[in-house]
Amino acid sequence: MSATEALIASAEAYSAHTYHPLPVVIATADGAWMTDVEGRRYLDLLAGYSALNFGHRNRRLIEAARAQLERVTLTSRAFHHDRFADFCRRLAELCGMEMVLPMNTGAEAVETAVKTARKWGYRVKGVPDGMAKVVVANNNFHGRTTTIISFSTDPEARADFGPYTPGFEIVPYGDLTAMREALTENAVAVLLEPIQGEAGVLVPPDGYLPGVRELTRERNVLFVADEIQSGLGRTGRTFACEHEDVVPDVYVLGKALGGGIVPVSAVVASSAVLGVFRPGEHGSTFGGNPLACAVALEVIDMLRSGEYQQRAAELGAHLHDELRLLAGSGGAVREVRGRGLWAGVDIDPSYGTGRQISERLMDRGVLVKDTHGSTIRIAPPLVISREDLDWGLDQLRAVLAAR
Ligand code: PLP
Repeated sequence: MSATEALIASAEAYSAHTYHPLPVVIATADGAWMTDVEGRRYLDLLAGYSALNFGHRNRRLIEAARAQLERVTLTSRAFHHDRFADFCRRLAELCGMEMVLPMNTGAEAVETAVKTARKWGYRVKGVPDGMAKVVVANNNFHGRTTTIISFSTDPEARADFGPYTPGFEIVPYGDLTAMREALTENAVAVLLEPIQGEAGVLVPPDGYLPGVRELTRERNVLFVADEIQSGLGRTGRTFACEHEDVVPDVYVLGKALGGGIVPVSAVVASSAVLGVFRPGEHGSTFGGNPLACAVALEVIDMLRSGEYQQRAAELGAHLHDELRLLAGSGGAVREVRGRGLWAGVDIDPSYGTGRQISERLMDRGVLVKDTHGSTIRIAPPLVISREDLDWGLDQLRAVLAAR
């Protein structure tokens, strides 16, 4: 039995089967490349679902983490620590907002945003107790907690996990008429991914996000943008909402905020919104810890230069040009969607499932992840070189040529 087979068999035996990973066991990584326990190298075109926007073991981020490890790593929020104020101020500034509520994982930040919106609804908007409604889109992915899966439309994510949390209405993504109808008196928030990642990198029709912005403003409803996957440079801008000049009321951030080193998430909004909380009403032992703040501060600093956004925009334009050629050639690629260094590629099922295509790519040294049957997602670290990206695309072309 190879080391790979032994480690996978052991993981299968001792871990709950909530994932179906590709059969590769990674041992080390650097930049856009990973190496497995057999010494084989792979180009990472998934980047930890965008948590690794700055690449594996980014030097600046590793240094920031290392320096903080030598000082203090955790205080809990029972005491102040000296990285917290800077982290909150600089993140608020990056977002053009006023206040930050730090958490750890994406799902926790989404939960926090839902609680924020409900409390704002009762305290500020004057919604009768217990009546607050949050409007969400079909095919959404916001995480895995019981409340979040309560408003998922994915049967796999929901089955056998009820009873579900009430207070959500699901409307078709991209449909402004349905949104208008859903924004009734007791609506407190619209929670949307500006680009739906897990659904297959679905970009809404032009004008949808500005339309939602206008409707929510008109009806005194918070526009909550879940930019956990789309934000922090991935699409060629700091936030995907910027492509349509939309500024939401609330940003929900995660993934890349922790630089692929520590889980860091946050809700960012105005003081009129996040100011609704009082001590004791929400919290997290690890949220806003010194190590998280130190790494996130470096991430924020890197994003302030605009260099990563520009790289994602330029390389992303190249990626989409190449993928469009594939889509237009009448071959295996049916449709390509996305923005920046982020693409959902629908493959003609006669060429194989997304999983099979991913496995064939793995055999050629490229790691991607399938979603929804025949779609593969391409989301390399933003630090990938053009040569490596082209090499990865060559492997995709080779896989698709051999039906
Ligand atoms: N929201 C979006 C848009 C996501 O893509 C994800 C994860 O993929 C989450 C929330 C949940 O984040 P986490 O897995 O860190 O809980």
